[in-house]
Amino acid sequence: SVPLSFFGGVGGASRCGILVKGSNYLEALAAAETVVFDKTGTLTQGTFGVSAVHPAEGMEPGHLLEYAALAERWSDHPISQSLRAACPQEPDAGRVTDAREQAGYGVEALVDGKPVLAGSRRLLEGRGISVPTCDLPGTLVHVSVDGSYAGHIVLSDRPKPDAKGAIARLKTLGVRKVVMLTGDTGETAAAVAGELDVDKYHAQLLPGDKVDRVEKLLAQTSPKGKLVFVGDGINDAPVLTRADVGVAMGALGSDAAIEAADVVLMDDKPSKLAVAVAIARKTVRIVR
Ligand code: ADP
Ligand code: MG
Repeated sequence: SVPLSFFGGVGGASRCGILVKGSNYLEALAAAETVVFDKTGTLTQGTFGVSAVHPAEGMEPGHLLEYAALAERWSDHPISQSLRAACPQEPDAGRVTDAREQAGYGVEALVDGKPVLAGSRRLLEGRGISVPTCDLPGTLVHVSVDGSYAGHIVLSDRPKPDAKGAIARLKTLGVRKVVMLTGDTGETAAAVAGELDVDKYHAQLLPGDKVDRVEKLLAQTSPKGKLVFVGDGINDAPVLTRADVGVAMGALGSDAAIEAADVVLMDDKPSKLAVAVAIARKTVRIVR
């Protein structure tokens, strides 16, 4: 049987916009030792501003942005939404005849019948397209059109206003280790990690690498301690399932993520995780 006060805890959490799918997850949250955050859309706002457009020789900046936005037409990645929003007018979607997402890399599509890639350096290099070195701060979207490098778009994302405070609060609640994972570049990851005071970060991870990372961190967690992963479910749904407690951001997260998660933060605020841990600690103390 489940003690009544557990229901009180789940109910109390739900009144704070924290959906806990079972009292066992409340108990696990109370024992949170390692907290792993995904970066984009979880610790950061995930709404990118375009800070620069650098076309290759012979390409118009407006056309570069348009190719990228068209290739991203059907993606639900935060990068794709931001690129589409940056186009002065919505380009004709009829120009895209085939579009495919490569999770953790970017997208490929046929635009005006020409193959277009938009995404990470690895995406283009993997197709034999050489990408010039550029160490600009920010998330870069490299674009190729018809097999040739067409330039890159520099995007910037900001940490959520409550992210730093949330990490500090988790520490005071007894969480030993706060880790950030991202598929983004080391430069961008280092800047965010430094600003937010996470203990450790790992960059350039593909979705499968995130699962491997979490398994390593699980092995380092003490027998009674629990590992909590927080993500938006875009490219990280398998990790949500692997963690002791998988937490999804409710407003930004995909339906699949909300389904896969054990806990949903309805208003997307990392600080709500600290609230959840505090409620969990209090509830478990009352029960014991
Ligand atoms: P994060 O781990 O920060 O949540 P993702 O795993 O979703 O990031 O993506 C990792 C990287 O892959 C991004 O920083 C970007 O370079 C590239 N990428 C992924 N999806 C897209 C997309 N739809 N368009 C462009 N680039 C993308
Ligand atoms: Mg992500």
